Amino acid sequence: MKTSEQRNIAIIGGGASGIFAAIRCAEVAKEKNININIKVFEASKRFLKKVKISGGGRCNVTHHIFDSKDLVLNYPRGKKELLSPFIKFQASDTVKWFEDRGVKIKHEKDGRMFPVTNNSETIIDCFMNEAEKYKVQLVTQSNIKNIRKLENGRLSLLINKNKNFIADSVLIATGSMPSGYRLAKTLGHTITEIAPSLFTFKIEDLILENLAGTSFTNSSLTLKIDSAKEFYQKGPLLITHWGLSGPALLKLSAWAAREMMHSNYKAKIIINWLGLESINEVRNMINNIKNKNTKAKIGNAYPIKITKRFWLQLLIKSGIKKEKNWSEINKKEFNIIVTNLFSCELEVLGKSRFKEEFVECGGINLKEINFKTMESKICSGIYFSGEIMDIDGITGGFNFQNAWTSGWIAGSHMPLKKDI
Ligand SMILES: Cc1cc2nc3c(=O)[nH]c(=O)nc-3n(C[C@H](O)[C@H](O)[C@H](O)COP(=O)(O)OP(=O)(O)OC[C@H]3O[C@@H](n4cnc5c(N)ncnc54)[C@H](O)[C@@H]3O)c2cc1C
Repeated sequence: MKTSEQRNIAIIGGGASGIFAAIRCAEVAKEKNININIKVFEASKRFLKKVKISGGGRCNVTHHIFDSKDLVLNYPRGKKELLSPFIKFQASDTVKWFEDRGVKIKHEKDGRMFPVTNNSETIIDCFMNEAEKYKVQLVTQSNIKNIRKLENGRLSLLINKNKNFIADSVLIATGSMPSGYRLAKTLGHTITEIAPSLFTFKIEDLILENLAGTSFTNSSLTLKIDSAKEFYQKGPLLITHWGLSGPALLKLSAWAAREMMHSNYKAKIIINWLGLESINEVRNMINNIKNKNTKAKIGNAYPIKITKRFWLQLLIKSGIKKEKNWSEINKKEFNIIVTNLFSCELEVLGKSRFKEEFVECGGINLKEINFKTMESKICSGIYFSGEIMDIDGITGGFNFQNAWTSGWIAGSHMPLKKDI
């Protein structure tokens, strides 16, 4: 094939990564004057479905960490591999990419970044306009069932049951859909163990009763699974109707995703509600309250950083009547209060989905991908990007950043690939 002949590029999956890659691919082809035909095949009726519902409908596009070395620390899987891709296209590039196209991005106190419109449709409209500008062909209801390598090195795609498309390069950007893993397997790839990530914990305990909505800004959490494995996180924690959620807990779920699945989501969580450094600090704090309030009822004098409702619940769990005076609290009761504040041990009984964002951990074995180009090391002409790879981030915009970065790199290289 001569370079003047048209190159066919197929992108499987019209989600965040596939669409971003398609736009980049078209842009590079235009810059380099390469004659190209880009088709995005989407199995369902709509493109960018997850983008639409992401971030509670606001689309948390990325995170306000503009140093690649710090950015990678937010990926329980893929940390090492993402470093060089992020040097080429990281969170600040994402912001610039959108702003160059008229979409203003803001960041919130916790670092999450959203379009200023607070509406994911803004992101979708931006992508659709770009795709139209570059004449990227977007086809829906086109489920890719099979990919076959032809003798001439090109790739034949089976669309639905009876149509074929012959491509020079193919990007598989099917997210966490099993069909994508199947396609990759038939081409010789291995898939690492799949497990849900970013989930909340089901816990039934007196201390949480009727407290849904209560939050703690700086808790410390230790998760013990099968008594051998321990995970630790610090940060905001939220009590929900059926257990615990909040940024620190979601991070814990991401780092422990596989181990939690193996233990069938049974574990022990030890909560330091106020995140104080040592048990002595808690002792001193409670001692001060006790000494200053000897005549007050224990239910009415409590640490300022917690709510009265939580304190009363903590007293119930500690078996102490709220009507008692502080002066009547004996050493044993004092110690129970300190323990329940500093290292409150609760049983995790199961998991539930975090509605604002969830991902699967596991996917294409990262050793089988060349991260300079996103091309498969096993099957030439095949590329991967987004969640199909064994890469996942904690909550906060990191999963989209992986989708944009890997899509951008794949899109940058697919039009340039030398003839086979
Ligand atoms: C409710 C929710 C909210 C989220 N919010 C955020 C957020 O705010 N910020 C963030 O960073 N991350 C968020 N995420 C995670 C983020 O959406 C994903 O990590 C990201 O969409 C992955 O992009 P992708 O392109 O790899 O896969 P997807 O976006 O899942 O796209 C894959 C596409 O491939 C199609 N497909 C699959 N198989 C085939 C096939 N055989 N043929 C053709 N098409 C196929 C699918 O239909 C789908 O449209 C959220 C996830 C969920 C579920």
